[in-house]
Amino acid sequence: MNYRHAFHAGNFADVLKHVVLTRIVEYLKRKEAGFFVLDTHAGRGRYDLRGEEAERTGEAAVGIGRLFGVAVPELVHPYLDAVGAVQHEREALRWYPGSPRIVRALMRSQDRLFAAELHPEDAAALKAEFAGDRQVRTLAIDGYQAIRAYLPPSERRGLVLIDPPFESADEFSRLVSALGEGLKRWATGTFLVWYPIKHRRQVDDFLSETALSCRPRPTLCIELLLRRPDGILLAGCGLVVVNPPFVLGEEMSGLLPFLAKTLRDGPAPTTRLEWLNAQL
Ligand code: SAM
Repeated sequence: MNYRHAFHAGNFADVLKHVVLTRIVEYLKRKEAGFFVLDTHAGRGRYDLRGEEAERTGEAAVGIGRLFGVAVPELVHPYLDAVGAVQHEREALRWYPGSPRIVRALMRSQDRLFAAELHPEDAAALKAEFAGDRQVRTLAIDGYQAIRAYLPPSERRGLVLIDPPFESADEFSRLVSALGEGLKRWATGTFLVWYPIKHRRQVDDFLSETALSCRPRPTLCIELLLRRPDGILLAGCGLVVVNPPFVLGEEMSGLLPFLAKTLRDGPAPTTRLEWLNAQL
């Protein structure tokens, strides 16, 4: 386990993932009944953008940093509010909230969050981040195991975020199996899965397998590519959303052009917004 999210916190991939995450949580809040969120690869919950790791890559400056000082669509406000909530006085952008902290910022008193993190240091930081918080349970376990152990939740409505580090060669196939396992246990839950785009072919194979294994449930694919994939560098990233809120496609068709323009790293960023199983 070499991956440390502190190097990448607040980068363009986090911005896309966390904007979509906040749109889903905001949708869940439309009903009074409480919801449940399982964050299978939660990270440490909060990152210091002036820490050595973040400073070394500078990724946050061209990620979340780009959303400061520009006009931001209203649908992005819950995300920016969650980012604002972790700043200390008079500091515009020093800290970046990870996915569990973002979900927690939007939760109401009737909602619950379970957050799993396997790296011992990050798991300890996550535990400290939510110490004494009765609505959050942190778990120092394998996130895929958490899917088997904690689904379905008693709330019967909510979200599973699966955001692995892609350190192992078989991560794409583990994701397909995990989605299958999760849906078997909780057919009506919303599942949000993040993936990197380096090799187009590898990603397209993953998406075809996912579409087959998730059908007939509605499955939305959302991508942001900053450059053409060359098989080596991270060219872009994507999200698969199974059982998305019905408004998510429409919301993202408005937000993706804004995100592409704001986060671009070259002349021609591209986006994709597609129902994966429309023709199956
Ligand atoms: N979801 C976080 C966010 O959006 O702020 C970022 C998560 S980061 C991409 C992936 C995390 O998964 C890392 O913190 C890593 O230590 C952790 N991890 C790696 N293997 C894991 C496993 N099998 N189960 C749970 N966590 C794992």
